[in-house]
Amino acid sequence: MKPSDSLMNPRSDSAQSETVLSVRDLRVWYGTERGAVRAVDGVSFDLRRGETLGLVGESGSGKSTLGRGLTGLLPVGSQTDGEVIFEGEDLQKKSPKEMRKYRGPRLGMIFQEPMTRLNPLMRISEHFEEALRVHVPGVDKAEIRHQALEVLRLMGIPPTRYRSYPHEFSGGMRQRLMIALALVLKPAFIVADEPTTALDVIVEAQILSILRDLRREFETSLLLITHNLGIIAETCDRVAVMYAGKIVEIGDADEVFRSPRHPYTAALLRATISLSTTGLHSIPGAPPDLIDPPKACRFHPRCEKAMHICADKDPISTSVGPTRRVECWLNGPDEFMTPEASIPLTREEPRVADEA
Ligand code: SF4
Repeated sequence: MKPSDSLMNPRSDSAQSETVLSVRDLRVWYGTERGAVRAVDGVSFDLRRGETLGLVGESGSGKSTLGRGLTGLLPVGSQTDGEVIFEGEDLQKKSPKEMRKYRGPRLGMIFQEPMTRLNPLMRISEHFEEALRVHVPGVDKAEIRHQALEVLRLMGIPPTRYRSYPHEFSGGMRQRLMIALALVLKPAFIVADEPTTALDVIVEAQILSILRDLRREFETSLLLITHNLGIIAETCDRVAVMYAGKIVEIGDADEVFRSPRHPYTAALLRATISLSTTGLHSIPGAPPDLIDPPKACRFHPRCEKAMHICADKDPISTSVGPTRRVECWLNGPDEFMTPEASIPLTREEPRVADEA
């Protein structure tokens, strides 16, 4: 079978139950003059074949660092710990050279601003030639063209644009090009970091529809990073809510949206604007400084349900259903919840400087 023959294979029913990625206690930190910035601090989750997991949280919560940590694209000077088991191998143990071989054919990344990733001096055809020649030894020009035109067609880009330069495309078309370049090597896992942030709503809907189809057409597992809960609701099977470097709630997207179990998830949902919105809600305060985050539950200075235990002990990750986990004392375990532990915490009103 030629590489291109498998592009359109339908997803097998058993595929979705197969775990492609297992992340265990992943930590990423950056050294600064003031101390270590713990951008990702003990994150664990699994991703099945063909599954889309949405990763949501405020700016500075560690979402993009997590995405880069999984694909080995962290900046120089960052440190990592934990396990990233991908197709049975721990990516944390791979050298930068070995990771380059994974990226493209096994791991893909779609970035927020395609113009920073596309070379303005290279035609689209040359981008495909470069990507395929590096990873498919011996592939000839005719096969490159065949494979490239197939993914471009799926992205709604006509073959007449194959020899164009990136600047000849609109923003939405360039984002589709980025997706086509990520897909041409049929990676098993893609990280898409805010892929629609810079686009208008019409183009955003088109890109989201393409991302939804990825699952059906390519059996691709997708980590979709966004601050937009509406995008998660439309596109994702599961959602992971990130706060201050930790996943505080993870579960089936419908369930989490219907009945959030973590006060931060509930606050994010309340702050979302929809057609039925009658008033604006914000979360008081600001995300913490990750060099010196609040002790115990990192959300406690902003949480309207905070109790004494929240400022004293790290919340324990607790199962609240077959596929859902929450890190919040409101969800147990009960043996720690003495009468003193559950006394409401007096919260200081955030100062103007904190809100800024
Ligand atoms: Fe709020 Fe306490 Fe839960 Fe943290 S552990 S989210 S402070 S209730």
